Amino acid sequence: MEDKPLISVLIPVLNEQESLPELQQRLHNTLEDIKKPYEIIYINDGSTDMTQHLLEDFRKQNDKVKIIEFNRNYGQHMALFAGFERAKGEIVITIDADLQNPPEEIPKLVEKSEEGYEVVGTYRKKRKDSIFRKIPSYIVNRITAKLVGVKLRDYGCMLRAYRRNIVDYMNMCPESSSFIPALANTFAKKIVEIEVAHEERKKGTSKYSVFRLLRL
Ligand code: UDP
Ligand code: MG
Repeated sequence: MEDKPLISVLIPVLNEQESLPELQQRLHNTLEDIKKPYEIIYINDGSTDMTQHLLEDFRKQNDKVKIIEFNRNYGQHMALFAGFERAKGEIVITIDADLQNPPEEIPKLVEKSEEGYEVVGTYRKKRKDSIFRKIPSYIVNRITAKLVGVKLRDYGCMLRAYRRNIVDYMNMCPESSSFIPALANTFAKKIVEIEVAHEERKKGTSKYSVFRLLRL
């Protein structure tokens, strides 16, 4: 019997073959260092490159790796919802696959969760994105804050942690929102935002056009 994981890490992946090997290595090191039971759930959101092949290799090397494979591209937030349903951890962490969120920040999020915060958001200290990526984000931040009534500095940063009770709530209403940080904040009483580093996307390209972002 494997241990029930304390930490579930969810990673939506669309055509990230260039980033995945380094991501898996750094995640593995970070999570092993925490010394608590964990699982890594990759959600392959309809990739057409070598992503699936790489993920299967990771699973062969580490039985804590799980894969959800979509038949086509459904989008990052749908992918995360599939991950939430599958996740068994008490603390569920979401992170992008492209290494813009350093996996080494995960222990900070775990620590905050364990202090009792139901949602741990992060904001990017020095956001390393182009102006064309930042302006739509600014608009999304402002609109979301208004709609949800919770002001966060950075709704777009997907390195986040959720406690089990919040994940259970979200699993009850997958249709009601396609924007997970906003949904989570409608349930949570104790929310905190911590500062994390942000890297440039070194490999591959952003999967969001201005149009897709505004639709979100
Ligand atoms: N992603 C996904 N499905 C999509 C678009 C993106 O699973 O339809 C993943 C992508 O592989 C990455 C994360 O979601 O792990 C964030 O995407 P990206 O880095 O392109 O967005 P940005 O950093 O520009 O917000
Ligand atoms: Mg990115």
